[in-house]
Amino acid sequence: AIALKDVHLSLGSGAGRVHILKGVSLDIAHGESVGVVGPSGSGKSTLLMVLGGLERVAGGSVRVAGSELTGLGEDDLARFRGRSVGIVFQSFHLIPTMTALENVAVPLELAGARDAFDRARHELEQVGLADRINHYPGTLSGGEQQRVAIARALAPAPALLLADEPTGNLDEDTGAPIVDLMFEASRSRGMTLVIVTHDPELASRCDRTVRMRAGEIEPARPAAARVEAL
Ligand code: ATP
Ligand code: MG
Repeated sequence: AIALKDVHLSLGSGAGRVHILKGVSLDIAHGESVGVVGPSGSGKSTLLMVLGGLERVAGGSVRVAGSELTGLGEDDLARFRGRSVGIVFQSFHLIPTMTALENVAVPLELAGARDAFDRARHELEQVGLADRINHYPGTLSGGEQQRVAIARALAPAPALLLADEPTGNLDEDTGAPIVDLMFEASRSRGMTLVIVTHDPELASRCDRTVRMRAGEIEPARPAAARVEAL
């Protein structure tokens, strides 16, 4: 589960310093899927980085999968990233000099897994890439590269799967099965899923949607207010 309370975060330095998250509070139940939508620059990716332990906040509290991230030292935070969260990015972020198998296995090995290559092979089979494990990213299609990224994210059996525009670089026909894969994996493994997306169709498949605007989460409009607005 996730509990953010009054989270503030600024990035950049000097005159370029930007107050990005301005008091974000958000609760997500274990196993829930949440779509994060909102205009460009509203802080969606930054919020995801906070949940993934990739950005430290300046104020507030960040509880993810049983850990209060604000209190963790660098080593514990790195361990949290390796074990508790899997992240899928729009641009795949695979290492070009490693095969598909190595891209999945090496991070597992670094996190201390002994059977890293066996597990990596299994995860790549699960995403339908049994016959591509020795390919380098440059020789894989965009959809195949994203499948490798999903296998890598799922391999440590994290409690939380985060995705930032996971289909942003894929056409519709390639993106749809990728989305299916993420929903199926999170459901069958009981994972919490947070997806940042501009795609209303993808957002509507989540249990719930939250909308960001200028560094804040817009309050959900109650049903009664929606009826009055009609
Ligand atoms: P998009 O939909 O375009 O991906 P987003 O909602 O994901 O947008 P973020 O990437 O979270 O937006 O960025 C929020 C704001 O923070 C933007 O105005 C961006 O310019 C600013 N920002 C992000 N990173 C930094 C940084 N390192 N230094 C200064 N400002 C930054
Ligand atoms: Mg973004």
